[in-house]
Amino acid sequence: MTSEPTPSPRSVFSLEGKLALITGGGSGIGFDIAQCMSLAGATVVITGRTEEKLQQASQVLGEKAHYLVNDVTDLPALKALVDDIESTYGPIDILVNNAGINLKKAALEVTDEEFNRIIQTNLNAVFALTRTCAARMVARQGGSIIMISSMAAYYGIDRVAAYAASKAGIEGLVRALAADLSRHQVRVNAIAPGFIETPMMKTAMAGDIPRRDKALGRTPMGKFGQPKDIGWAAVFLASEAASYITGASLPVDGGNSIGF
Ligand code: NDP
Repeated sequence: MTSEPTPSPRSVFSLEGKLALITGGGSGIGFDIAQCMSLAGATVVITGRTEEKLQQASQVLGEKAHYLVNDVTDLPALKALVDDIESTYGPIDILVNNAGINLKKAALEVTDEEFNRIIQTNLNAVFALTRTCAARMVARQGGSIIMISSMAAYYGIDRVAAYAASKAGIEGLVRALAADLSRHQVRVNAIAPGFIETPMMKTAMAGDIPRRDKALGRTPMGKFGQPKDIGWAAVFLASEAASYITGASLPVDGGNSIGF
């Protein structure tokens, strides 16, 4: 027991005064992470390749939301992106590496070009952006970095070889970065979503009723997740409430990872 007053839940879960950068924030899970963080008080900057989508998203998010068109696979441009955000809106306190792509294809048919495209977007870009943001967080002795992983990193799921490899890389990266950065008070964690109803998931399941039924069948809660389920988990991991959590991967999957 300490003599210090216990802070209220409202204050420990609050992101008031924080600036969050969310890649791929114009749709799907990224949009809901931005919305939940914004509702928790953060100023949010969302990025993506499609200006129209970002514009519409930031209108819904309101005046504490901003957007910048950026392709994360253009690695040399990421430093300029971070410079631009920090000079306009202030220091980035929270980085959410959410932008990602999938490819549903039998492993033996995946070309080198396709494999590299998935790795470039889902892993190389994540490391490059994280390195740039983390260096500044280290200098400021504080920050929270969240990666969006996948249960494809843990389980053998058919026809997602490149995607699974990229997400398994994310899991290793999270633990290694946490080991490097924790003494500088920079926390690094992952969220491993189960099947979440987003444009990506709808494309992956399109016209594939057996795949959809199999996914539902192996989800103990018997339903798909919603993007907000990931959004609130991200708020928690970014907040003071998670101040002693680093190097973790949090499954948000309706029980999928129980493996029944
Ligand atoms: P969506 O396809 O709905 O959203 C992906 C977002 O990433 C889009 O806004 C897209 O915008 C952006 N994006 C894609 N490529 C790039 C790029 N090169 N540069 C910048 N932005 C990019 O997918 P989800 O919301 O479903 O997925 C979000 C994350 O969650 C991904 O990392 C995914 O792997 C992960 N995930 C999703 C699951 C699910 O069931 N939905 C399950 C497990 C993990 P634009 O095209 O305009 O660039």
